[in-house]
Amino acid sequence: MTENYQNDGDSIYRLFYDTIKGGDFRAREANVYRLAQVSLNIIDQCAAQGVPFAREYGGLLANRSFGGAQVSRTFYARGQTGQQLLLGAYQALCRQIGLGTVQMFPRTEMLDLAVINGHAKGIVVRDLVTGQISAHAGDAVVLATGGYGNVFFLSTNAKGCNVTATWRACKRGAFFANPCYTQIHPTCIPVSGEHQSKLTLMSESLRNDGRVWVPKRQEDCRKPPISIPAAGRDYFLERKYPSFGNLAPRDISSRAAKEVCDHGRGVGPGGLGVYLDFGEVIERLGQDVIRERYGNLFDMYEKITGENAYQVPMRIYPAVHYTMGGTWVDYDLMSTVPGLFIIGEANFSDHGANRLGASALMQGLADGYFVLPYTIGNYLASTKQPKPSVGHPEFKQVEAEVRTLTNKLLSIKGKRTVTSLHRELGKLLWEKCGMARNERGLKEALARIPELREEFWKTATVTGENGELNQALEHAGRVADFMEFAELLCLDALHRRESCGGHFREEFQTPDGEAQRDDQHFAYVAAWEYRGPGQAPIVHKEPLVYEEVHMSTRSYK
Ligand SMILES: Cc1cc2nc3c(=O)[nH]c(=O)nc-3n(C[C@H](O)[C@H](O)[C@H](O)COP(=O)(O)OP(=O)(O)OC[C@H]3O[C@@H](n4cnc5c(N)ncnc54)[C@H](O)[C@@H]3O)c2cc1C
Repeated sequence: MTENYQNDGDSIYRLFYDTIKGGDFRAREANVYRLAQVSLNIIDQCAAQGVPFAREYGGLLANRSFGGAQVSRTFYARGQTGQQLLLGAYQALCRQIGLGTVQMFPRTEMLDLAVINGHAKGIVVRDLVTGQISAHAGDAVVLATGGYGNVFFLSTNAKGCNVTATWRACKRGAFFANPCYTQIHPTCIPVSGEHQSKLTLMSESLRNDGRVWVPKRQEDCRKPPISIPAAGRDYFLERKYPSFGNLAPRDISSRAAKEVCDHGRGVGPGGLGVYLDFGEVIERLGQDVIRERYGNLFDMYEKITGENAYQVPMRIYPAVHYTMGGTWVDYDLMSTVPGLFIIGEANFSDHGANRLGASALMQGLADGYFVLPYTIGNYLASTKQPKPSVGHPEFKQVEAEVRTLTNKLLSIKGKRTVTSLHRELGKLLWEKCGMARNERGLKEALARIPELREEFWKTATVTGENGELNQALEHAGRVADFMEFAELLCLDALHRRESCGGHFREEFQTPDGEAQRDDQHFAYVAAWEYRGPGQAPIVHKEPLVYEEVHMSTRSYK
């Protein structure tokens, strides 16, 4: 956020420009400018909600830097910013529940959208404890259901994250934009084996002080890192991107790590890791300073890996973390279904083909606190749609469809676990549509996904019943949606014959391995319209016209 407390030259324009450039010129310019403008309000809002942001000795809020920026503009709460913001928002929500202005429906999953006369008029939900399926009518519907990173099975996202709400809205007419724009975060704990169900992020803030390196020589990769002298180390981010160094943006840092590992210079089991080394900064500032800054992250790292990162460098590797794609929304955050609004990670807006550090919460908070309250009123005031009752035939129809789907899942009675099918899908996507993609691999994935989907509906086993708390059933429903959505993701990646941000098509790269955009043919948002099972979706193109910034080649060198 652009308060410029550090007096280091930050401004609204600079945040706007950094975000547009960070997204590799694939975001809508006006949205990003608005985001930079309202970012100023966010920090005051959150501080007023009681979020315990870090402060400097004099009492002012402190800042640090994140990837893709050369100013310190990120407000933080040690290594727990997201959690503290969540607690702040949750406290404020609880206050409203207490005041009677918000009615909560905890342990409830939205499973479909009811569209009446072309307008979103409510949702159909399942009570996760009793299994009861019911409808809720409203003047408008807002989805804030997060991203779809878990389509890759392994990601840094919470296990509950899924695509169900936005995918089912897509099937009711809400176009899905840029599904191939997924973010692989460079600073995660490497995969350690098949037993894992999720991956762990080590905050990007660590790259403020940690230096990323691998041995220069392959034969040194198995040696203890401490035994390798400075001359034998390749600080590849500092070497390749001298002006941003270890704070190069995520897409670029991830690819650079992949490149050195592909060349056989990765470290740790399987050679899929690079060092994040605090040795030098500890020598310079002392362990206490580093403990104060990142102590909880070091503790977490030790709990997971059994290694003490004050003594040996951390090992990190890129992992799926965030999804820039999402439901297409207009400037008012309304989807192509009038009355259906999408906010936060669930929509596609603002980050283009790559998101910069710390900007997800900025966008989610901006959408919810400073955009939607103004735009939703515009919709309500300009349409005279009556609020239907849940007895409306459309609600009854959607409820019946949800019941049928639930029963279908429970009746498969196959032999394979839903988790193993999900893992296979995720592995396929990671290999064919992960950090690097090419036409051949994408076509292979597109051939395999429908087969896997069929296998799912024939061989999956979903234990338990509907009328009880049944997480196997919940998971199965979400994986069924991933099985459909994954195809759209690969189709989008195949059609975008350029590289931009997190979408790296191997065929389109510069001689030094950087992403090569094709502005002439691909400077647009790809918004996909669902056409029914077995039918190819249609792509609608929203041209990206830049009036304030020049679409230049993105460079962090
Ligand atoms: C480990 C980690 C660290 C991060 N750190 C940062 C950071 O430091 N700074 C930053 O800016 N961003 C960070 N991010 C990204 C940021 O946290 C997310 O982008 C952000 O939380 C998204 O907010 P959201 O409200 O849009 O969605 P979410 O926070 O994902 O919330 C969506 C909610 O909807 C619920 N839901 C989903 N589907 C349904 C359904 N069908 N019915 C009912 N409920 C449903 C989910 O259970 C969830 O509670 C981090 C992300 C991760 C994973």
